[in-house]
Amino acid sequence: MLFRSEIAAVARRYDLWLHVDAAYAGPAAILDECRYVLQGTELADSLVVNPHKWLFTPIDLSALYTRRPEVFRRALALEHAPAYLSAAAETLNKPGAAVNLSDYSVALGRRFRALKLWFVLRYYGREGIAEILRGHMRMAREFAESVQADPRFELAAPVAFSLVCFRLRASDEENRELLARINATGKTFLSSTHLRGQFVLRLAIGNIATTAADVQETWDLISSSAPHQRPPGGVPAL
Ligand SMILES: *Cc1c(COP(=O)(O)O)cnc(C)c1O
Repeated sequence: MLFRSEIAAVARRYDLWLHVDAAYAGPAAILDECRYVLQGTELADSLVVNPHKWLFTPIDLSALYTRRPEVFRRALALEHAPAYLSAAAETLNKPGAAVNLSDYSVALGRRFRALKLWFVLRYYGREGIAEILRGHMRMAREFAESVQADPRFELAAPVAFSLVCFRLRASDEENRELLARINATGKTFLSSTHLRGQFVLRLAIGNIATTAADVQETWDLISSSAPHQRPPGGVPAL
């Protein structure tokens, strides 16, 4: 695996734009013990973190950071605006005026999305947010332990944050059926993906209201919805 600093060196050599997609995991860097997730980002041209993923704001709020805002401006600012738009642009672009974010993106009209995050930051504070993130990661680890303790299941990826990828030790078809059965209850919602060619279930913990009891209940539901234990290799038990 290439580390970001090595990727950055390649990007620089070939004059490529290096974007860091930290949409989901970026907020983990709020925790001292997880700061490494943004390691090397200082060498990137841009970074995205989505507070609507794991920073408790309702959809949508994606934060884009870039060290090269002029590139966005060159591509997206209204240069030949029709008269009814240019007056607004002139007012906004006067020295000392607020940054006109429509010059850096496709949309002209914009909602004040950042307000949602401002409330979250003010209400919980850095430590409060860190505690919630740690709690989510703890719940994910506990869920992963339940998965590992059940011989019918296996983890499909390491649990780095609050996402657990796991599967029945069975066919993709059986995993799909299990997913459908669980989601049909309406009690929890799992998603899925493919890892190394296999269909895999995903449990993502990110909601501020989620408790350890919810996660335990979800595991109980999964466990009781899964086919009963079969001996390894499918040999009938005596
Ligand atoms: C969710 C996600 C996206 C998409 O983000 P949206 O702004 O919600 O469309 C992109 N990359 C990663 C890694 C994600 O987790």
